Amino acid sequence: MSGLAYERLHANLRSLGLPTLERHLDGALEQGSKNERSLTEILDELFEQERKTRQANLVELRLRVAGFPVRKTLEEFDYKAQPSIDPKVIEELATLRFVHNAENVIFLGPAGVGKTHLAIALGLEAARSGLSVTYASAGRTLRKLKEAGERGVGERVLRNLGNARLLIFDEIGYLPWDRTMAHLFFRIVENRYERASTIFTSNKVYSEWGEVLGDPVLASAVLDRILHHSTTVNIKGESYRLRAKRRAGTPAPLLPMESRMAEKSHARTTEG
Ligand code: ADP
Ligand code: MG
Repeated sequence: MSGLAYERLHANLRSLGLPTLERHLDGALEQGSKNERSLTEILDELFEQERKTRQANLVELRLRVAGFPVRKTLEEFDYKAQPSIDPKVIEELATLRFVHNAENVIFLGPAGVGKTHLAIALGLEAARSGLSVTYASAGRTLRKLKEAGERGVGERVLRNLGNARLLIFDEIGYLPWDRTMAHLFFRIVENRYERASTIFTSNKVYSEWGEVLGDPVLASAVLDRILHHSTTVNIKGESYRLRAKRRAGTPAPLLPMESRMAEKSHARTTEG
């Protein structure tokens, strides 16, 4: 190949936005010159590498946009440590049918039993499969929304939350909300109802959501919409971290809230 053609080939691959292909070009040309593989095989591999890299970059971008506080995967989840969860239910959720059907998932249970882990892991699966995902920590997000409302940009922020194909609304119930926050929560749920799916996590059973929202009537309106098409996964037992500590020899007593939750949480139900 003439020097000119070679230079232009590199330049064209760059200007066409095929950086991976360009990076592998020299190796491929060398293989071609040695007649090691057919031209079809070489071209196929070059384009395949480009496609894979592009796809991986897109997933990485989607994950960054999602704003996960940590990355957790389903493979990392130890079902043996959490016998109250039926792996089949999580496997079904991992098919992401619930996202395509705009259904909700609610993980309930005491602190440390893997609610956030599972929510994020499902979010990761969704991002990998090309769906837009937004992670929102409930209290912080509602406070931010409230402030945005005071600055007159609340509607825009609210719309953004409504747009993701999958919203993860994590940690409902750790701190009580004021009236404005509770109403904003209702708006989020109302916006997404039968339109897009949300994964909620909470350390409070449904009967306690009235206290969290500070308004039992609003809580029942919220729950009515959330639960209409939904899967509730009730996780029982003790914190994974405390359990790991105890196994290492440190006695770890159950926190009062956790023992209360373990008693209160009822069987897993699937509705919708
Ligand atoms: P929660 O949201 O229920 O309070 P997390 O999901 O944050 O709990 O779990 C606390 C920590 O324990 C995380 O680091 C999580 O990855 C880990 N963890 C919890 N349950 C399991 C499990 N069954 N297998 C593996 N890791 C787990
Ligand atoms: Mg959590």
